[in-house]
Amino acid sequence: GNGSSGRPKKYKLVFLGDLGVGKTSLITRFMYDFFTHNYQATIGIDFMSKTLYMPQRTIRLQLWDTAGQERFRALIPSYIRDSSVAVVVFDVTNPSSFHSVGRWIEDIRAERGNDVLVVVVGNKSDLADERQVSTSEAEEKAKQYGALFTEASAKSGRNVKALFKKIADALPDDT
Ligand code: GDP
Ligand code: MG
Repeated sequence: GNGSSGRPKKYKLVFLGDLGVGKTSLITRFMYDFFTHNYQATIGIDFMSKTLYMPQRTIRLQLWDTAGQERFRALIPSYIRDSSVAVVVFDVTNPSSFHSVGRWIEDIRAERGNDVLVVVVGNKSDLADERQVSTSEAEEKAKQYGALFTEASAKSGRNVKALFKKIADALPDDT
């Protein structure tokens, strides 16, 4: 490394998943502890950084938000190329978004093989009455693709910090 005075190691995380699953909301909850029902389309690709102070080390996470529209899928190879983590989000009330998880991961693996940590997130877990995807089937799919899995709610904040802690704990140290 750069010695004790070096800057924290930086890791790039890209957020993927269908439109409306809550990618921007999860990032906003983590960055600003804020949630809104007002829909805001992501314009192109944008990133934000946050430093995580952990007992053994300090790391800097660079969070890349993306739009889920088909027309942006062509851009994926270029921005996943130098990423450490791909966070694939689906909405637990939307089976079609869950069905897309496999396609997203196949795109990721096609570009990066096993060089990238893949984390599947079932978002909107606060909508218990509208749930259409069970925890166990989601867990099963994540396992099948060699990915970590967690459920979360950007709305309530449930499991959002835990998601980033899980990612940080799984990142290689490399020092
Ligand atoms: P994106 O297209 O994946 O970035 O999705 P957004 O973050 O823009 O969210 C799409 C819609 O779902 C917005 O109206 C959000 O307010 C709503 N939403 C996002 N996360 C949650 C959640 O955890 N629970 C609920 N109930 N709604 C959510
Ligand atoms: Mg968005």
